[in-house]
Amino acid sequence: MSSAWYELLANLAILSMLVLIWSNARLPHIDCPQIIRQFAFGLLLGLGAIIVMMRPFEIGKGVFIDSRATLVAVSGLFGGPVALIVTAFCATAFRVYLGGAGVVAGLTGIGIAAVVGVLGHALKKNERPSTFGIIIFSACVAAGGPLSFLVMPQASLSTLLSSTIAPIAIIAFAATLLVSLAVANEIRRRDAVMRNHVYKTVIDSLPDCLNVKDMEGRFIVANPATAMLMKVANPDALLGKTDFDFYPFDIAEGFRADEQNTLLHGTSEVIEQQVTHRDGSTATLSTLKSPVRDSSGRVTGLITHNRDVTAKVKLEAALAESERVVTAALTNMADGLIMFDKDLRVVFCNEQYRTMFPLTADLRVPGTPAASILYASIARGELINIPTDNVTDWVNAACSRLRQPGTVQFPLYDGRWIESRTSPAADGTCFVVCSDITKGKQSEQALRDLNMRLAELAETDGLTGLLNRRAFDAALTEEVARVGRGEGALSLLLLDVDRFKAFNDTYGHTAGDDCLRAIAECMRAVARRSGDRAARYGGEEMVLILPNTPEEGAVALAHELRNRIRTLQIAHTGSEKGIVTASIGVATLANHTMGPDAGRLVVRADEALYLAKASGRDLVRTWEPAKPKLVSGKSGG
Ligand code: GH3
Ligand code: MG
Ligand code: MG
Repeated sequence: MSSAWYELLANLAILSMLVLIWSNARLPHIDCPQIIRQFAFGLLLGLGAIIVMMRPFEIGKGVFIDSRATLVAVSGLFGGPVALIVTAFCATAFRVYLGGAGVVAGLTGIGIAAVVGVLGHALKKNERPSTFGIIIFSACVAAGGPLSFLVMPQASLSTLLSSTIAPIAIIAFAATLLVSLAVANEIRRRDAVMRNHVYKTVIDSLPDCLNVKDMEGRFIVANPATAMLMKVANPDALLGKTDFDFYPFDIAEGFRADEQNTLLHGTSEVIEQQVTHRDGSTATLSTLKSPVRDSSGRVTGLITHNRDVTAKVKLEAALAESERVVTAALTNMADGLIMFDKDLRVVFCNEQYRTMFPLTADLRVPGTPAASILYASIARGELINIPTDNVTDWVNAACSRLRQPGTVQFPLYDGRWIESRTSPAADGTCFVVCSDITKGKQSEQALRDLNMRLAELAETDGLTGLLNRRAFDAALTEEVARVGRGEGALSLLLLDVDRFKAFNDTYGHTAGDDCLRAIAECMRAVARRSGDRAARYGGEEMVLILPNTPEEGAVALAHELRNRIRTLQIAHTGSEKGIVTASIGVATLANHTMGPDAGRLVVRADEALYLAKASGRDLVRTWEPAKPKLVSGKSGG
C-alpha cells in the first residue's frame, strides 16, 4: 500500500477518534449553557482540522489533500454558527500558518465547506438530520472540494481536475458521511439518555407507586415509592422478585390473579384494594393495571400504578360519619335551623324549620332570598304586627339583622311565638336557629298576670274589692303632693253606714257583709273619672278620693252617692230611716290652703262626717273652719 493510502487511513482514524472523544466527553447536560457546548464542539473539530492538516495525503502528483473540509462542514451542520466559526477559524489560521502555493485554494475549500455547513444547519431547522439528508449533505461537501481548485492557475488546473477529481470527491463524501452519521447517532443516543434521565427523575419523584412486572410477575422496574409501600430499603431490592416475596400467600395470589386477568384481556383497569403487609399493617390502594406491549403489539408485561388512598378512604369514612351525625342532629333537634349564603339566599334548612312556618314552607328552600321569604310571610299573614305602611323598610331592617349576631322574638298568626338567634360567620354566611317559645311566653304572661293580681290583692280590700287602707294612704299622699304642685283641688268623701251595728244585730253579719258590698258598688259607680279612687277606710267606713275636684263637685258626688245607697232600698228596721243609709263628710284641699291643711284632710272629712251624724244621719256635710255648715239639709233624706 502506498504511503498516500496510509495517510488517508490516518486521516479517517483521526476523524473517528474525534467522534469517539466527543461521544465520551461528559459535559453536564442541563447546567452547561448551549453556547459553551457549541464552542467546545467547534474547538474539538477545529483541533481535529489542524491535526488532519498536519497529516495530508498525496492524491496526485504534488496534490495533497486532507479532511479539514469535512470537519468544518460537520461543525457547521451540528454545532451551528458558533461551532462553525471556531472550527473554521482554527482551520484557516493553521492553513495560513502553513503557507505555500495552495493557500488561496485551501482557504477557498474551507470557505466552501463552511457555507455548506451553515446551509445544512439552516435547512435541518434544529431537528436531527435524516440519513437521506446526511447523504445529500455529504455529496455537497464532496462537490465543494474540487470547486476550490477553480481558484488555482488555469495551466495546472486541467491536469489536476482530470486525475484527482474523482478520488477527492469520493474521499470527502465518505469521510463526511462517516462523521455525520456517527455524530447524528451520538446525538440520538444523548437525547435518549437525556429523555431516560428525565423519565427516571419523574418516576422516582412520583409520590405514587409505579412499577413494571414481566409476564411472570417479577419486578423489572420500580420507583422509590413502590419500595416504600413494599417496605424494602430501595427499588433495587424489588427487582427480580414477585409479590409472593412480600405479601402473605393468599394476598399475593389475589394480586397475581388480578394481574393475569389484565394480561389475558390486554386492557387497563382501575381497582381499589385493601392490602395487609407482613407486619400486619393495612393500606387501601387505588391501582391502575395496564399491559405493556412490544413493537409488534404482543403483551410482554404489566405496568402497575398504585396510589395509597388509605388516608383518603379514612377521611371519607370520617366525613360520612360526621355527615351522618350532623344529619341526625339536625333531624332530631327540636329547633329549626336555616343557613343563608353571603347574598342571604337559603343554603340549607331542616324540616323542623319548615314546619315552624307552614304558610311559607314552600319558599323556605335552598336558593330563595331571605327578603322574598319575609315578603311572602307578611303577605300570607304568617308574620303579624308588621307596620303595613312601610313593609319594605321593615324587610330591609330584618335582612340587615341577619348580618349581625342577635336574638329576636316575634309572634305568628296562630298565637305561637318564635325566638330566632342569628350567628353570622366571617365568610358572610349566617346561621339562624329558631325556637318555639310559645310555652315560655305563655308562662311569662301568666306570671305577669299573677304578679299584677298579687299587687292588686295587696292593695285591695277582700270584702268590697275597693282599695284597702294601705293603698288609700299611698294614693292620698300622692294626690296631696299633686295639689302641692298646683294641679287642682283635691276632695275627700268619708262615708259611714248609719246604724250598722244594729243592722248586723238584726240581719246577721253575713247580711252585713252583703250590704257593705252593695254600698261599695255604689262607691265604684260614683268614682267615674280615671283619677277617682274608692277605698274601704275601715269597718263600715268608706272613702272616695276625688282629684281635681273643688268642694262643689265633691258635694254633688256625695249626694249622688247618698242617693244611690238609698236607692238600694235595703231594709233596715233597726234604723229610724227604715232602709240602709249613710252619712258623708266632705273635705277639700285647695292649693292656696295647702301648707297647714295638707295632713288634716282626713280629720276634716271625719269632722264633717261627725257633723252629718250629729245632724241626724243620711246627710252630707262639708268641713267648715269655724263651724261646719249644713249643705243639703234634709232635702236628700
Ligand atoms: P252610727 O250610725 O253611729 O254609725 O251607728 P253604727 O251602729 O254604725 O255605729 P258604729 O259605727 O260604732 O258601728 C260599726 C259597726 O259596723 C260595728 C260592726 O259590727 C260593724 N262592722 C264593722 N265592720 C264590719 C264588717 O266588715 N262586716 C259587718 N257585717 N259588719 C261590720
Ligand atoms: Mg262607724
Ligand atoms: Mg256607722
